[in-house]
Amino acid sequence: MEERDVDWYIENKLFMEIHNSERKSFEGCRRRWDWHFRDSLYPPTTIKVFEFGIAYHKGMEVYYNPETWSFDPEVRAQLSIKAFVDSCEAQRAKAIASNAFYDAEVEQDYNERVELGRGMLSYYFSSVAPKEDNWIPVKAEIAFIVPIKNPETDEEVMWCKCNTCEEKAFKYLHFLAENGTDHTAEEYWTLDPNDPLYWKGLPVVYAGRIDLIVQDRFGNYWVLDWKTAKNVTAEENTEFLDLDGQIATYVWALRKL
Ligand SMILES: [Zn+2]
Repeated sequence: MEERDVDWYIENKLFMEIHNSERKSFEGCRRRWDWHFRDSLYPPTTIKVFEFGIAYHKGMEVYYNPETWSFDPEVRAQLSIKAFVDSCEAQRAKAIASNAFYDAEVEQDYNERVELGRGMLSYYFSSVAPKEDNWIPVKAEIAFIVPIKNPETDEEVMWCKCNTCEEKAFKYLHFLAENGTDHTAEEYWTLDPNDPLYWKGLPVVYAGRIDLIVQDRFGNYWVLDWKTAKNVTAEENTEFLDLDGQIATYVWALRKL
């Protein structure tokens, strides 16, 4: 068997992925990170602020769709609000279908969310976008997966051999061996360190989704990311962008691509 390169692993969704949320969690509190990302101890439901964020992003994706950018802004605004509301209603339907705790309080919460989002988007489209949109959208919702360099050996790809990766890799091997390939699982990799086919691990990658890339009138590209928050403190206003690791790492990923 020929050796498989990192692209093969990525194409077959075999990797150890790190996202911005995990990076932030690790920076914030190691114990919380350990519980969440290594022991998988977290509530099984999507927390409501996340649901709101997802719906809000759907709205923005529609407003800044490069293909409809020439439409009347008022039309784009209405389409966007509709996309937001549709997304909230889909979440509500899912909650009703799957969650035994859909009661009057939850019902009220979904209703309030829809109204809150409508208000936020309307304000944004009437008072913020006309002033700030001095550029054209190039591409929205860009998913990326980039291998992370090994900081100790300087190798271009870092390979992970944790239990989760091992399980994932060998499950896939058996799937391959049983589904129409000419090779048995053992012909791909082995766990014998003396064998030339010794399993080296799964590549560690940084994965994420960029909300929007725009181009200004000078031809420069900008990365936009939508944030929704109850409030932003004065401190966050002045320092948070300079210290923001999310966009910085996204730019790093884009450069690598
Ligand atoms: Zn791993």
